[in-house]
Amino acid sequence: MSNTDEKQRADEPGREDSDVLHRDPAYFQYYSQLQHQQNMLQDYVRTSAYFEAITLNGPSLFNGRLVMDVGSGSGILSFFAVQAGAKHVYAVEASNMAAKMKTILNAAKSNGAASRNAYLADRITVVSAKIEEPRLVEEVPTVDAIVSEPIGVLLVHERMLESFIYARDKFLRPGGAMMPSSGTIHLAPLTDTDLWNETIVKARFWQQRAFYGVDLNPYFQPAFDEYFSSPVVGCFSPSALMGDSAQHFVDFHTVGMEELKAFAIPVEWHIKYTGLMHGVAGWFDLAFVPPATAIAPGTVPNATYMSTSPASPATHWQQVRMLLKQPLAVNAGQVIRGSARFETNDQRSYNVTVRLICLDADESAAITTDEALAAVLEAQKARSRSAVWYLQEQIYNYSYTGDPIPAPRPEGANMYLPVDALLAESAGPAPPNPAAATTAFQEAAVMAVQAAATGPTDFLVTTASVAPGAASQDAMQL
Ligand code: SAH
Repeated sequence: MSNTDEKQRADEPGREDSDVLHRDPAYFQYYSQLQHQQNMLQDYVRTSAYFEAITLNGPSLFNGRLVMDVGSGSGILSFFAVQAGAKHVYAVEASNMAAKMKTILNAAKSNGAASRNAYLADRITVVSAKIEEPRLVEEVPTVDAIVSEPIGVLLVHERMLESFIYARDKFLRPGGAMMPSSGTIHLAPLTDTDLWNETIVKARFWQQRAFYGVDLNPYFQPAFDEYFSSPVVGCFSPSALMGDSAQHFVDFHTVGMEELKAFAIPVEWHIKYTGLMHGVAGWFDLAFVPPATAIAPGTVPNATYMSTSPASPATHWQQVRMLLKQPLAVNAGQVIRGSARFETNDQRSYNVTVRLICLDADESAAITTDEALAAVLEAQKARSRSAVWYLQEQIYNYSYTGDPIPAPRPEGANMYLPVDALLAESAGPAPPNPAAATTAFQEAAVMAVQAAATGPTDFLVTTASVAPGAASQDAMQL
């Protein structure tokens, strides 16, 4: 649909979402379509994680409580909340999905007890508005829990987390629960000869000297810039990772609006293989850990986790790969230091700026301040790299099957173990499982809620998306 058509639709008399369509037409037009809601519902990793997180916390968090669903879309999270015993759910949705949701609820009422959805009747109020609409503060009461799926590629794309946090500050009672409770961004060093080659070939198209009689070279540099500043969204094998990820933990109960708008992730990657680093891989984890202050006395809360890592089953978010214009040669045992800075832009997304340098382990150990790191980055150009990626300029790469991609031995990805490590593989006991990173984010999520309050700390734990066999060395071999 063209923008003009949208504006005309937005101007139809009596149209409840006119205001919202005017302000952010393309975004809410996208979400008003059932096909896009379906794409999310069919992501079974995502939908099961929310189903478990909400229904398994029925007695502890939702039973008899007031709930808000921020960006309710098809209404699925509101329906789960009612299944979990919520007294009433306020479903706030800015797109025309709000009208569609009213239809399903009206049908639930008018068909009476014969309706399969009869249990939903009178338990949900659809609020057709942006959550930021000032009048909502009068119309919607304070709630005990907020459910939402405000997550984009690499956790933060779409900037809907800001609406989730806004809802917390305006509508959540003190001590209430945010579900999800936290997210963790992961960034890891990536080797990917095929993707890098495919990308440079596309850019080199513009180096043709006689394309239908035209010399295209003036377009080469901007094309090169464009391709290498565009994150590639798609799944890939975890064997393309040259070391463990740097992590950035975001606690949705406490994070401030300003911290969401600009943040830096310090990088210290201990490189496991000799090879070429072509870029940075990114993904995220989500945790649903209700805070002790929100839990009904005498009940056992449930903690649910899901991961979108390359070692977990694929989700509709997939992962991202962000390429360097020039690969960086690294040796096993070296350390890549630097930072990735995230800053919001006006495209509902982020500019991600990295500065990285490859150091020997003893050189890295000697650098203990940000100033010293900045100085060495400045001085040592040949082994430094910088890049800016625009998170909204996503290129899709569909070379995935939906299952975790089997991990070949590192040599298959042009990565080489130090001789000692190669021999050690066959000698001693199995090395520690890199899935430990998953445990670390689970611990961080629990610690965050424990730090906030005293109370029940024993969680019944479910992990929605651990790959079948992910715990085995072969599936997780980095
Ligand atoms: N909760 C649904 C839909 C998630 S997609 C599910 O889990 O399947 C996010 C939804 O939030 C979209 O339908 C979008 O239109 C809505 N949304 C985004 N920003 C919003 C805002 N500021 N106010 C209200 N709704 C918003």
